[in-house]
Amino acid sequence: MGKSRSTTVLIAYLLSQNPQTNPQSALDLIRQSHPFVEPNSGFMEQLSLYHSMRCPSTQEALDNHPLYQRWLYRRTVEASVAAGVAPEVSELRFGDEGNASPMNLAAEERSTDLKSSEHPSEPKVLYRCRRCRTPLATSAYLVPHNTKRPVSSQPCAHLHLTPLSWMRPELEQGKLEGRLECPNEKCGQSVGRYAWQGMKCSCGEWVVPAMTLGKGRVDEIRERPRVGIRGGKI
Ligand SMILES: [Zn+2]
Ligand SMILES: [Zn+2]
Repeated sequence: MGKSRSTTVLIAYLLSQNPQTNPQSALDLIRQSHPFVEPNSGFMEQLSLYHSMRCPSTQEALDNHPLYQRWLYRRTVEASVAAGVAPEVSELRFGDEGNASPMNLAAEERSTDLKSSEHPSEPKVLYRCRRCRTPLATSAYLVPHNTKRPVSSQPCAHLHLTPLSWMRPELEQGKLEGRLECPNEKCGQSVGRYAWQGMKCSCGEWVVPAMTLGKGRVDEIRERPRVGIRGGKI
């Protein structure tokens, strides 16, 4: 009927041809000659994703884009949670796997280039178990949330993460929620929680799904430019 799907394709085309435009302005343009067009909200969301990825033009560029991977991950989780079950671990993408070789957080710490590739200007932070100092995550694996925080909100007591390989044995149990323990078997300290259906952060924002580290359970080691990481606690 020329209302939703065809308009979506047309907007995608306009976005790919004009880097300056955005989904809403492309829609406005089409409406000038065809006032009844109305892409459904799901399509508009996907157009907005396509736009923020700068319109990848090959399947490979799309598949490798972190925003697209995050979107696929959310969709997998949402479908499972809607059915009342935890997602199959085989369907999940673990943030530190799937590259040429599994990334070793400790090795990464030793490397001289600690800048995050996605945000080269931001220094990387390493999070270690407070009790045994096992590396648990870096800031590259944080899931941004609460970016438009109301002034009145409480500070976040949790770090929200993408699934990481050390969580695998726990997530393989297929539970909807549970505790995350330090992967060092001599330690086993409870370091956080996960809930596929989401969790309310102390700042007031719901994060879905939620994989968290308690800020009180980890030490933050901040990279100092050119000095490199020294082992000491902060
Ligand atoms: Zn530990
Ligand atoms: Zn928060």
